[in-house]
Amino acid sequence: MPGDRSRLPSVRELLVHAVDAVGGAEREGQVEMAEAVGKAIRTGEHLAVQAGTGTGKSLAYLVPAIRYAVEREATAVVSTATIALQRQLVDRDLPRLAKALKKPLGREPTFAILKGRRNYLCMHRVHTGAPEEPEDTALFDAFAASRVGREVKRLHEWSSDTETGDRDELVPGVSEQAWRQVAVTAKECLGVARCPVGTDCFAEQARAEAGRADIVVTNHALLAIDALQEYQVLPEHELVIIDEAHELVDRVTSAATAELTTSMISAATRRCGRLIDAGIADRLLEAGDGLALVLDDSPAGRMDALPQPLGGALTVIRDAAHACLTALGSERKEDVDEATARKLARSLLDDVHDTAVRLLDAFDEDQAHRHDVVWLSNDRYSASPRPPAVHVAPLSVAGLLRERVFARSTTVLTSATLALGGAFDTLARQWGLPPSPKPTVKAEGTATDKPAPADSDGPRWSGLDVGSPFDYRRNGILYVAKHLPPPGRDGLGEPTLDEIAELIDAAGGRALGLFSSMRAAKQATEELRDRVKYPILCQGEDATALLVGKFADDPRTCLFGTLSLWQGVDVPGPALQLVLVDRLPFPRPDDPVASARQRAVEARGGNGFLTVAATHAALLLAQGAGRLHRAMADKGVVAVLDSRLATARYGGFLRNSLPPLWPTHDPTVVRDALRRLDAAAPN
Ligand code: SF4
Repeated sequence: MPGDRSRLPSVRELLVHAVDAVGGAEREGQVEMAEAVGKAIRTGEHLAVQAGTGTGKSLAYLVPAIRYAVEREATAVVSTATIALQRQLVDRDLPRLAKALKKPLGREPTFAILKGRRNYLCMHRVHTGAPEEPEDTALFDAFAASRVGREVKRLHEWSSDTETGDRDELVPGVSEQAWRQVAVTAKECLGVARCPVGTDCFAEQARAEAGRADIVVTNHALLAIDALQEYQVLPEHELVIIDEAHELVDRVTSAATAELTTSMISAATRRCGRLIDAGIADRLLEAGDGLALVLDDSPAGRMDALPQPLGGALTVIRDAAHACLTALGSERKEDVDEATARKLARSLLDDVHDTAVRLLDAFDEDQAHRHDVVWLSNDRYSASPRPPAVHVAPLSVAGLLRERVFARSTTVLTSATLALGGAFDTLARQWGLPPSPKPTVKAEGTATDKPAPADSDGPRWSGLDVGSPFDYRRNGILYVAKHLPPPGRDGLGEPTLDEIAELIDAAGGRALGLFSSMRAAKQATEELRDRVKYPILCQGEDATALLVGKFADDPRTCLFGTLSLWQGVDVPGPALQLVLVDRLPFPRPDDPVASARQRAVEARGGNGFLTVAATHAALLLAQGAGRLHRAMADKGVVAVLDSRLATARYGGFLRNSLPPLWPTHDPTVVRDALRRLDAAAPN
């Protein structure tokens, strides 16, 4: 009863129980963070909290969130970017916390995990089979078809064993083509009331369980869909904790990105062809052929103006899809098979129609008023070919987050990397929060060089950096190779390769190479395998998780790779004492979304490079540098072989985004330090 819970122990007292249960010791930053989260919940003021590795931040937000849920008999949502963190919360932290807090709270808190519908087996599809996809490329390939067939058979067997139907629980996993045969999107679902197996539906069971739980763990994509859709996806909630918040903007952008291809149009035509007048469906098919011709003639890349042929093709597609939707009519009394076919057709037609409308609306005369960026991709001749497609993505997700997340729920955003250049304002702006009323320490340049507009009506929030229990200055060196020439366009230069070889020799292996492109990672691997005596693994040679496992098991081994390694490697101990960064990780100049965002900032009179490119680089660089210290005893060097970190105007902003390592430009000092660490490390 709420009355019985009106005198629940304080957040601080509950944290003591929680820390005891997990066998840890009280940490200053963790207590500070837990109390700040508790205050945010009491006051309704949003909170951005940077908590370095080793703070124990999941406990610091779970404890006050659980207390809130039990006291108010409400649900708190916790959103993560990665499956790894989701698993850690659901399999490790929450079960232990639930037991530890049962006595002080008077009942055991409950929790559930909730994902998008496509992540659960659809029992209706399992029973009735998926509709045929004749032009699915996998089915043309006999070998792939038999592989997919075997996977689907396994999925059918699994459907009678699994208790959750959750795709992530299927080990080993299956290909996307196979999964598509047994899962539906929210739009394709018949709806529990009409579905003949609705009472056994895994997605519905997960939703019902989430509706009853104190804590619901979800991911940023579903959080974004909940914000984007008019209907409710997540249970009613007034508190959201966003962990791995440095990824929020990218994940929400992905969820709000759409694409149009000719195969989508022919699939939509096929689906509705059996249900409506053939002449109406044929018009859509012809419109798709028109798009194919236009795309074949168009160069890949960002589009700043709508070319007349593409505009014409999109208009015809929009109108033809609309005619099909009208002919399809609204839902009616019909048997389940017909209802299923109609639902599938409507879902595909809606996608085609809505994307064509959005593409046509994207080209406002005034650049400063545009909301979306459009680009064309054509990977037909790449190693993993894809047919040409037109894409449309939001230039900013600030308005969406502000109106649909911050306006609805008290929000706590947390990560080890939020205070870029020493201040929260850069990311806050991207989230749609106004400039901080209580500015955090002013460091050497923030990413936005113009003062932010006054926004007294904006959501109230505060920023807090609880630091890290790690002593970065004593245990780590930031080495910037200032003497090297700035990186060029033609791959890694000889001096950079020499520098890498010398650093790896001094470290005795133990190196993680974070490269800005796969091409650079491969070049370094090929050239250095002849120059250093230690084994070098390269991303792509095997599954990344296996490569990271080999790297962690043998301290002499090095691992080179690109993007996913910048954020995904967690190897404590002496197997990793050197992090190499070949160049500052700015977005590629031809990245359509980043370059359009840059231009949009410039059109409003701001500095696009600092606001977009430098922010992107600062986030990734901080994540990359964060690979070095994963446990209290970890020691080593982050070596940045891009002299611009020391010499460029924006260098101060980037350096201030990194953990506070001891800085040097002297290669001799660094190599001596690495040799000493190598000699002291157990082999
Ligand atoms: S309710 Fe929807 S998702 Fe669930 S089994 Fe039926 S069709 Fe599939």
